[in-house]
Amino acid sequence: MTAALFEDISACRLCAERFAATATAHAPRPVVWVRPGARLLIVGQAPGARVHASGRPFTDPSGDRLRDWMGVDAETFYDRDRIAILPMAFCFPGYDAKGSDLPPPAICAQTWRQRVLDHLGPVDLTLLVGGAAQRWHLGARSVTDTVREWQMHAPGVFPLPHPSWRNTGWLKRNPWFEADLLPVLRARVKEVL
Ligand code: SF4
Repeated sequence: MTAALFEDISACRLCAERFAATATAHAPRPVVWVRPGARLLIVGQAPGARVHASGRPFTDPSGDRLRDWMGVDAETFYDRDRIAILPMAFCFPGYDAKGSDLPPPAICAQTWRQRVLDHLGPVDLTLLVGGAAQRWHLGARSVTDTVREWQMHAPGVFPLPHPSWRNTGWLKRNPWFEADLLPVLRARVKEVL
């Protein structure tokens, strides 16, 4: 990423008041992981609390599961020359009343997303992880319907459920995901990397 764009995003405080009003009362900490020339783009939702603390994307159990789905180790996953990671919002949004992560603030994608995608350039494979990423890239449908029709988007795009432990029930209810989609995804990731 150009230094100027990276500095602009790092200095972004558009959501400062919104985050200050959450239970964690945290300040924005944008986590952006992109370098032009990467072949694979992971579009996530927004950093969780652990990523907010580490400053690295997917340093949490969701990341462990996503790496397993992709069939890559951590070294490969964090190689910015090969993999870019751009969530739909760059900062941890805080928790809702039930302790779940709040949705990514829409203002982030409205403000930054196209500039960062233009900077990244074309990729061979895009993983749309969760509903927010799928709505922005593919339009509004349920995650189950979108992921079930993954063959319509492959091999350039794979819609995936979010790898959070909260979706363990979804994975059990949809065994075709692990049986049919994951082997094809792993082969495609290997091919692209
Ligand atoms: S989430 Fe995006 S728009 Fe909001 S403060 Fe962070 S970088 Fe800025």
